Amino acid sequence: MPERASGIMPPGRSRFQGLPVDLKPERRTIILKLHRRETVTDSSLSGEAAVTPMMDRRRVVIVGGGFGGLAAARALARAPVDVLLLDRKNHHTFQPLLYQVATAALSPADIASPIRHILYRQKNCRVALASVTGVDVTRKVVQLEGGEIPYDWLILAAGATHSYFGREDWSTLAPGLKSVEDATTIRTRLLLAFEDAEYEVGEEARRAALTFAVVGGGPTGVELAGAIKEIAASSIPADFRNIDTKTARVLLLQGGDRLLPAFDPSLGDRARRDLESLGVEVRLGARVTGVADGGVTVGDEFVPARNILWAAGVQANPLGKSLGVPLDRSGRVSVAPDLTVPGAPAVYVIGDMAASNGAKGGMPVPGVAPAAIQMGRHAARLIAAEARGTPAAAADRAFAYRDKGSLATIGRWRAVAQIGGLKFAGPFAWLLWAVVHVASLVNFRNRFAVLMNWFWQLITASRGARLITGDPRLPCAVPGERPAPSGSLPSGDARPDQERLR
Ligand SMILES: Cc1cc2nc3c(=O)[nH]c(=O)nc-3n(C[C@H](O)[C@H](O)[C@H](O)COP(=O)(O)OP(=O)(O)OC[C@H]3O[C@@H](n4cnc5c(N)ncnc54)[C@H](O)[C@@H]3O)c2cc1C
Repeated sequence: MPERASGIMPPGRSRFQGLPVDLKPERRTIILKLHRRETVTDSSLSGEAAVTPMMDRRRVVIVGGGFGGLAAARALARAPVDVLLLDRKNHHTFQPLLYQVATAALSPADIASPIRHILYRQKNCRVALASVTGVDVTRKVVQLEGGEIPYDWLILAAGATHSYFGREDWSTLAPGLKSVEDATTIRTRLLLAFEDAEYEVGEEARRAALTFAVVGGGPTGVELAGAIKEIAASSIPADFRNIDTKTARVLLLQGGDRLLPAFDPSLGDRARRDLESLGVEVRLGARVTGVADGGVTVGDEFVPARNILWAAGVQANPLGKSLGVPLDRSGRVSVAPDLTVPGAPAVYVIGDMAASNGAKGGMPVPGVAPAAIQMGRHAARLIAAEARGTPAAAADRAFAYRDKGSLATIGRWRAVAQIGGLKFAGPFAWLLWAVVHVASLVNFRNRFAVLMNWFWQLITASRGARLITGDPRLPCAVPGERPAPSGSLPSGDARPDQERLR
């Protein structure tokens, strides 16, 4: 039985001092109902024959309010533990629909929700906005920027980040898609590309402004490439006067010999054909060796493209390093079959941070949302059993991933789906994709908002969230004072009249 966590101990002044105060020694925790907990002082306990005094409850700290962390927190709702969920963001992000924010189909609030609100009904759970910097497994504390928090059990679910394969300097030129901020950055760049092209004077410069290179042919790359082509071809052509947005060139650069490597080859092939029918140029075997301001290098060839998006690689959150145990090539923690860290049985690592062989036949568990959710529930089940004093038998501890299938969308009415041995493509797969994604959103408000937006798009082909935000090149809102697109307009004449342009 792990030694009990003994309270928050941030050094000096810290905003975390206000967190689980119920663990101070002069207080006792009692349970009135199964999951209604109250903290009372010793004196108020006297004469309380009707309530069941309980030993101090032990604390589960969860790092990350993504798919895995939220699933774990919810699954601990009835467990006799106090749960503290820490996240550096105040919101849960539904990453599978991030590309729709990046391509102006949805607004951030449609796919993200405040973590506090998601868990507000769960009385044994507290949420704190905190960036965790490390874990000391010997002292059983998580380290924050402002202090430390002790745990009895720890669930690390801090997800993954982009991987530029050692070329982090490419990240500013080729943004990746992981967070709401990434999505709005991409949206801004995407929309600015059309704005720039509208006032470019030279054909070559206009062509460059309207060229988009998406690096990586997994689901995110496929979704981004298809959506950009759809915007250019059907959502915005009527809004521009000087350019034909339909001529926008979208390249999808995939290093491997097929798209969607995690899917059956026939579905990767179908995705390629669908993208090509939309007008996307798919290049297979195109290994990107350089990214510069103005284009990418593929092998020996320089491909001019002013807009480059990165969907090529992920690596686990660096928090795993602080555990001092072996990591795999992607920085994931090689966990034991029950998802605990070897040598630290009170620490579970789940979701995109974990390298587990819990899939069928001892295969690696994929980095997808259902896997993170299942891992979160598994860790919670084991912790709850231990907290109740009935730990799971060794034979029942191993995590077993249940693959529910894979889906990827290419555009409106175009998607591919693989469920068990069944394969689908086209409108049915798209409907399946849409239903699964809406149903998986975290609350009713998000589901409703997404459904309404999609319905509107289906009948109008428009994308309502076309907002350019946070662009440093937009110091004012006065037409004519916007800085010129690079190398095109004469200085001092940021907005020449349209006759001069065409
Ligand atoms: C663009 C995109 C599209 C995807 N599409 C699909 C799809 O269609 N289907 C599918 O199944 N999967 C998809 N995935 C993968 C899926 O989203 C992940 O596998 C899943 O989110 C992993 O869950 P997680 O709980 O491990 O991490 P996450 O959901 O990423 O959550 C991690 C949380 O940890 C927090 N955090 C990180 N570092 C710290 C820190 N130091 N301190 C405190 N908090 C921290 C983050 O703010 C975040 O809230 C997609 C991923 C991306 C990026």
